Amino acid sequence: MNIPFVDLKTQYLSIKQEIDKAIFEVLNDANFIGGEQIGDFESKFASLYGVKHVIGVANGTDAIYIVLKMLGIGVGDEVITTASSWISTAETITQTGAKPIFVDIDPETYTINPGLIEEKITKRTKAIIPVHLYGQMADIVAIKNICDKHNLYLIEDCAQSHFSEEKGRLAGRYGVAGTFSFYPGKNLGAYGDAGCIITDDDLLAEKCRMFANHGALKKHEHQIEGINSRLDTLQAAVLNVKANYIINWTNSRISNATFYNTTLKNVEEITLPIVRNNTKHTFHLYVIRTKKRDALKEHLRSMGIQTAIHYPTALPNLTAYKYLGHSRDDYPVASRYQDEIISIPMYPEISKEQMEYVCNGIKSFFKL
Ligand SMILES: *Cc1c(COP(=O)(O)O)cnc(C)c1O
Repeated sequence: MNIPFVDLKTQYLSIKQEIDKAIFEVLNDANFIGGEQIGDFESKFASLYGVKHVIGVANGTDAIYIVLKMLGIGVGDEVITTASSWISTAETITQTGAKPIFVDIDPETYTINPGLIEEKITKRTKAIIPVHLYGQMADIVAIKNICDKHNLYLIEDCAQSHFSEEKGRLAGRYGVAGTFSFYPGKNLGAYGDAGCIITDDDLLAEKCRMFANHGALKKHEHQIEGINSRLDTLQAAVLNVKANYIINWTNSRISNATFYNTTLKNVEEITLPIVRNNTKHTFHLYVIRTKKRDALKEHLRSMGIQTAIHYPTALPNLTAYKYLGHSRDDYPVASRYQDEIISIPMYPEISKEQMEYVCNGIKSFFKL
């Protein structure tokens, strides 16, 4: 049996009629930039999130960059973030002129360890960007308390945590802003690059909207210099259809994770994901850990099971950050885990039979 890591085709086929119709409407209107579908999606997402402002942008990386820039973060500033994430979280800090300051991860949840944050705060620190990694909430209440105490901006990178929650409050609703990616493989994915910013702050929202559109709210009225980072109409049309299914798809991910948890619980040589108390983990990724990671990956590959690693190199260990002079010992947990983590197939449409095959593959590797 061949099991893909994600299966976007099966999902497309399940909503093909609606998607094709939505795309055809865009073609027919020929409003490829700035079509009404964008406002429709922003309103829909705003009501799902109970948030005042949603600003559609070109991708989830720009979403972070735009928020940082519009909060006035730049040269001479420091921004604290996690040692384990996709590079977007850190590279956008650098792009503003500020310096990324990494903090090691919690050994059980893989998210930034709040107990290690305060020792990294200096006079130059302006903001903290926690990442709700794999769909798991970072310890957002503890992080928010630190931000409030030290007067720092809290920006939540929600690229992997659409509709994750802590204490009934959605990811992205704790900080001054939440940033989302709608990259195709994300829990809510477009059919190309797309992203958005959510915030309740009127002024920040207006600035972000302006900056993302060449510094203009109205054509030719450039109040500042900006960038070109608009959500395009076709992607908004796709997202409008998919937004109607996201709650069901999220629930399927959670029940698939429960199936994996139950079926794999007796495999002693792997560590399964845990879910923090009072939170909803939305399982963008189902990540397990084992000392025999590379051999397990090869065994599964030979059985037709695709896996992935998120991420094979912790951020401070990347060549891109060599200039910062970090050593692996500075981030012991993230550095050790980069060699032990493996993400197994997880998507709403994966069947019980497919998951059983994956679990049998893992068990056969450990001679169970
Ligand atoms: C995917 C991702 C991003 C970037 O999103 P793009 O839409 O690909 O630019 C940022 N942060 C994290 C944690 C991500 O997983």
